[in-house]
Amino acid sequence: MAVKNFGFSISRPRTIDMDKNNLRKSNEILRELPELQACIGCGSCTASCSAGLLTQFNFRKMHTLVRRGEYEGVYKELSKCMLCGKCRMVCPRNINTRKVVLLIKRTLGDF
Ligand code: SF4
Ligand code: SF4
Repeated sequence: MAVKNFGFSISRPRTIDMDKNNLRKSNEILRELPELQACIGCGSCTASCSAGLLTQFNFRKMHTLVRRGEYEGVYKELSKCMLCGKCRMVCPRNINTRKVVLLIKRTLGDF
């Protein structure tokens, strides 16, 4: 039987095993920029992102992955950031998001 197209799809279920993830680099980042722990995941940074207008870049997703210890592909994705600073202006937690981008890239290297 053909599957009806409702115009949207449901995300595949994903289990995150935090105990298996290596959080060393994530902890290093949080030690240097503890304010990142105040992130409430509101997505304002992603909604206002200049790079996100032109590409699939999702800043909230990137820093959330890093905090979970999932680093693969993050450096390459973060290279799409133009460091324009719009995300910082809208962040309700006043997180220095440009610094987050630079710090993650510096800590991860080309992972
Ligand atoms: S705007 Fe700030 S609080 Fe909201 S998801 Fe982005 S970094 Fe987190
Ligand atoms: S600084 Fe980077 S992440 Fe923030 S809005 Fe500009 S392009 Fe997007």
